[in-house]
Amino acid sequence: MKHDLYEDREVERLDREALKALQLLRLKKTVATALTTPFYKKRLKDAGITSAEDIHTLEDIRKIPYTTKDDLREAYPYGLLSVELDEVVRMHASSGTTGTPTVIYHTQNDLDNWTNLTVRSLKATGCHKGDVFQNMMTYGLFTGGIGLHYGAEKLGMLVIPASSGNTKRQFQLMKDFKTTTIHATPSYMLHLYNRMEELGYSLKDFNLKRALIGAEPHSEEVRQKIEDLFHIDAYNSYGLSEMNGPSVAFECTEKNGMHVWEDAYYVETIDRKSLEPVPDGTEGELVLTILVRTGTPILRYRTKDLTTVIPEPCTCGRTSRRITRIKGRTDDMLIINGVNVFPSQIEEVIMKMPGIGTNYLIKVKKVGTLDKLTIHTEVGAELFTDDARDLYTLKSRIKEEVKALITINPGVELHEPGFLPVQQGKAIRVEDERGSVY
Ligand code: AMP
Ligand code: ZN
Repeated sequence: MKHDLYEDREVERLDREALKALQLLRLKKTVATALTTPFYKKRLKDAGITSAEDIHTLEDIRKIPYTTKDDLREAYPYGLLSVELDEVVRMHASSGTTGTPTVIYHTQNDLDNWTNLTVRSLKATGCHKGDVFQNMMTYGLFTGGIGLHYGAEKLGMLVIPASSGNTKRQFQLMKDFKTTTIHATPSYMLHLYNRMEELGYSLKDFNLKRALIGAEPHSEEVRQKIEDLFHIDAYNSYGLSEMNGPSVAFECTEKNGMHVWEDAYYVETIDRKSLEPVPDGTEGELVLTILVRTGTPILRYRTKDLTTVIPEPCTCGRTSRRITRIKGRTDDMLIINGVNVFPSQIEEVIMKMPGIGTNYLIKVKKVGTLDKLTIHTEVGAELFTDDARDLYTLKSRIKEEVKALITINPGVELHEPGFLPVQQGKAIRVEDERGSVY
């Protein structure tokens, strides 16, 4: 392997050996770049790496310590910058919860690489020139909106940069410009459906073909629901700002796991306790290294996202490996009387029940010394009649099925449509009133 100048189509179908050779070449370049930053210069030196020549094989990546969100905060504002500031043409930042933001810088070349990855992702879902792309993800410091924007233009789609919110206007744009493709969070897709009739629209008004949904964990059942409600295909899109943003991993039309673009991202999954890598096919925390960015190199980033690398090749012919849908973030995990529970497991049960609406909230509190988990969910208005039997049956079914799946006995409260708070941006699905009791 002498070069890394593959055409995109070619790189998507490289045999594994050639792909690994390309990864090694790019990993070495990335390590060399990282060594020019104050942060990694020290971090890598402490680990015995002073030059890219200390990396001989891909396995040598294990000599490199993990990078965490706290590291990025510590490096704020310029500790991870590896080019002169005037080489940088864009930055994205996330504020997080602790106040100090994390910031990622991009050179023009970095942005071009990202755009090419988004073109590839969009193509994988069947998007093409002539499609009308209504981008309902927030534009701004958050990478969700702008992240797919340039790739969609480059592919030749007509881009409507609607950004998030203003549901009434979204419908009008969808109707007037015959939108074929929506990019939104899954919770916003469900919200759109809930408001459609009330705002005077019906599916007949639209020309929708597909939705690209991401930015938050969601279950297969939610995808199914979105597809059934809108009569479209919905594809899972995964990314995070530390690794550019959307287009780290994307579903192809097989809808069976998300291809990670491995020529750009080196994938590892690790055991959450021992922090040792786990083999493909075993669930672990996703750890990513970006191989094609010089503005801000990031090595072995602990995403906190839980997933499994799928060992089998995809039937679509792309050779990059896939990951299963994200089960949740390690910090989303609830411990209920000692049992580990992910909100996505509960979502899986309720979203497949007939009559259940599109919004739900899980509340957890202490009752005496025990944890009590209660599922609040909206159901169709038709179930609220004088005869409460249907509601009672539904409640019992939810309880039974949740118990069967996660072994805990939940409370269930059913509400009329519109009762629960409307979710803006990334949906908040859990209210844990226990504070720091666990
Ligand atoms: P941000 O950096 O603000 O864009 O947030 C990135 C995080 O959003 C990821 O680390 C995941 O926790 C979550 N996320 C993004 N896309 C998905 C997806 N398709 N499924 C589940 N979680 C996602
Ligand atoms: Zn595929």
